[in-house]
Parts: sequence; C-alpha cells; structure tokens
Amino acid sequence: MNKNNEIYDVAVVGAGPAGMMAAITAASNGHKVILIEKNSSAGRKLLLTGNGRCNLTNTASLKELLNKFGRRGSFFRSAFSKFSSQDLMGFFESRGLEFKFEDGGRVFPITDDSKSVLKILEFSMKKNGVKTVYNARLQSIKKPLKLKGFFKLKFAFNTVIQAEKVILATGGASYTETGSSGDGFRIAEETGHGVTPLEPGIIPLKTKESWVKGLQGIILEDVHITIKHPKMVFQDGNLLFTHFGVSGPLILDNSSKIIPLIENTGKVELSLDLKPSYTTEELQDQFLGAFESHGKVDLKNYMKLFIPNRMINVILTLVGTDPKKKMNQISKKERNSIINLLKVFPLTITGYLPLDKAIVTCGGVSRDYINPSNMESKVVNGMYFAGEIVQGCAPSGGFNLQQAFSTGYLAGLVS
Ligand SMILES: Cc1cc2nc3c(=O)[nH]c(=O)nc-3n(C[C@H](O)[C@H](O)[C@H](O)COP(=O)(O)OP(=O)(O)OC[C@H]3O[C@@H](n4cnc5c(N)ncnc54)[C@H](O)[C@@H]3O)c2cc1C
Repeated sequence: MNKNNEIYDVAVVGAGPAGMMAAITAASNGHKVILIEKNSSAGRKLLLTGNGRCNLTNTASLKELLNKFGRRGSFFRSAFSKFSSQDLMGFFESRGLEFKFEDGGRVFPITDDSKSVLKILEFSMKKNGVKTVYNARLQSIKKPLKLKGFFKLKFAFNTVIQAEKVILATGGASYTETGSSGDGFRIAEETGHGVTPLEPGIIPLKTKESWVKGLQGIILEDVHITIKHPKMVFQDGNLLFTHFGVSGPLILDNSSKIIPLIENTGKVELSLDLKPSYTTEELQDQFLGAFESHGKVDLKNYMKLFIPNRMINVILTLVGTDPKKKMNQISKKERNSIINLLKVFPLTITGYLPLDKAIVTCGGVSRDYINPSNMESKVVNGMYFAGEIVQGCAPSGGFNLQQAFSTGYLAGLVS
C-alpha cells in the first residue's frame, strides 16, 4: 500500500454506500483516489438491505426527508439538495438500472436484488480509476501538523497511506459482522471530534408480558399505538409478535422515539388499538347485533372476524371468559371487557435488543463538529465524514441509504 510513498489526493475509508459514492464523486472530478476497506469485498451491509432487495431511496419531498431525521434533520439539507433522490436514481438509471416504486414511496431496483446496485458502484469506481484496497483496517489517522502536510493513515504492520484529504465513511456500530464495528467513532474522537451516545435505531422491543412468546410470528395489521406520558400516537402500521416482545414496521420505525422513554423510567406503558377503524360504540353495536343474529356461534369463532385466532386466546384469558361460550351466553361485563381490550390493549415495554441488532446506529460523530455544507470537519481541515458515522438516523423506507449516498456525494466533492 505504501509503495513509492505515493500520495493520494483523497483517501476514503469504508467501502459502504457512503464511501463508494464519495470515491466515485472525487475520482470523477479528477482526483487521485484510494478507497480502503477492512473486509475482503465492498458493500457487505448494502447487500443485506431491504431483505436483499435494497430499498435504495424514497420519493418523499425534501421537507419530508429532513423531518425523517428528527429534530435537527435540517443538518442534511445541503446533502439532500445537492444529491437528491432524483439524482440518486438518475445516477443508477444512466448506468442501466431501472426502479420500481412501492408503498410509502419506497424505491427498489427492478431486479429486486441489491447485488445489481453494488455492481454499478463497483463498476463506476473502476471506470473512474479509484484504487481499491481490501483487507485493510484503518487503525489511526495522524493529522497534518502544517497546513500543507498530509494525513497519515496507519494500518496493521506499520503500513501507512498518505493523502491530502481523508473521508471517513466507516458506518455505524451495528451488524458488526458486516464490518461496521464502530472504529470510525474512536478515530473521530482521537482526532478531536465529539461523538454522541450510540443508540440503536430501528430495533425490536422487549415486553414484560411473557405471553407474547405464544404469539410469535403473528402480525396485527394497521394497529395504532398510544403512549400516555408523554402523549404519543403511532398510527396505521403492522406489529409483529416475537418470542421476546414486539417488532414489525410500526415498532421498528418508532423505536428510536420509545427507547429514550425506557431509559428514563425503565419501562413504557403503551396501549394498542387493535381495531382503529371501529369506534367503541360501533364494536358494541356489532357484538350486540351478533347476540341476536349469531347467538349460537362460539364467542371464539365470532371474534375471528376481528383479530387473529391466537390473539383471541390471549384476550379471552385476560378477560377470564370461556372461549367455548356462545355469543348469547356472554354477560354485558364480559362484552365490555372484550371490547375494551380490542380498543385499549395494554403492553409494557421494558427494553430493546442490543445495538448490534439495530438496522441503524443513531448517534455518531456530532453534527456540531461537521460543516453541513460540505461535510468537512470543523476541527480538522481536509477531513470529511459521510454516511452512518454521522449523528442522526431515520426510520425505514430508504432514507438511511439516501443519507449515505447524499453525504458521500457531498463529501466526495472535497470542496
Ligand atoms: C439488515 C439491514 C437492512 C437495511 N436495509 C435498509 C434499506 O433497505 N434501506 C435503507 O435506506 N437502509 C437500510 N439499512 C441501513 C443502511 O444499510 C445503512 O444506513 C448504510 O449501509 C450506511 O452506509 P455507510 O456507507 O455509512 O456504512 P456501511 O454500509 O456500514 O459501510 C461502512 C464500511 O466501512 C468499513 N469499515 C469500518 N471500519 C473500518 C476500518 N477501521 N477500516 C477500513 N474499513 C472499515 C466496513 O467494513 C464497511 O464496509 C439496512 C441496514 C441493515 C443492517
């Protein structure tokens, strides 16, 4: 790697989507670029995205996109403006990849295969003359002491790479088997940058109720979640029961809002509205009507109209009613309790899976240390950050990959 003491214009660390896009951008602007990756190949995490289908981006407007990144999402305004979802799709379309559009503005390659995305990135790097080095794990970065000095990137066996500018795109600290083991955070701190607490984003939650285990694999469609304190409502999403708690899009996408509440109080009481399309009165009418019209039908069978079979057992156990009772045998008290549970079903969230199981890492190199107009460090001239290493995360939907590509593009301009 250090043959002839070669000096690169730009060294990019990390061959994820952010690093590859940064390298392509810098090289296509005439820079001599080296991309260094600790794995033996590029884009390990990219290949896993969207269950192997790669939800590459989203058709959301700029405003919606920024909102997805929370309170200070506007930090990414320059990145998303300079390289929008349209620009990203254009990049791939001009290289022969078509897209399809799914619910919630999710964009997937028409091939349904993340390999086709990776292939184009690898081909573009090659075409633009990016030198790629695999099996090389960055250990430390020495800052240039003089204005005209070079960065010295240190690897194992005293190997050193010198570059005028460096782009750190080493990802987050989850799914470490893909390579993103959090090295970049340590290196950022060593070079004078603040790193905010690393929290899991898009992660399943654990519940106190152990009966969830019996419901493992059941999906409740289009339910609402309400948290009383502080008041929060998450609407119209699917919830999946797991052996330890709850998952599914509605949980995963709101986990980063629920986790701080668990940290504050140790648990979060929430309630599920299992039938948000019915009011309590409408359910009362339905059940009373069935008392007359379906009097001889088993309560359990009637309830299949409303919720999955295995969930019925849980509700009837909580109410303390014999599932074999006929519709015309249930008391008013039992009926009210059942309807109450359909509308306000309690669950206690007590924890979440470890960071390594998170789809994204929330927290990272503090945005206070990065200039949002070009992703350059505010404390080390010539050092840039791109992708998940940067503080801030979004729900699922293609937003996180768009962030990686947009910030990678912006950093790659090395302006
Ligand atoms: C299972 C799963 C599914 C996902 N699905 C989607 C989806 O469909 N849509 C979406 O928008 N987002 C999705 N994401 C999130 C998305 O994958 C990330 O946001 C994105 O990969 C971040 O890109 P990155 O380039 O910043 O980091 P990464 O993709 O993590 O790449 C970082 C690279 O840096 C390398 N590296 C780390 N340390 C060093 C070192 N010291 N020296 C050299 N190299 C190093 C790593 O090996 C890695 O290759 C998913 C994530 C997971 C885990």
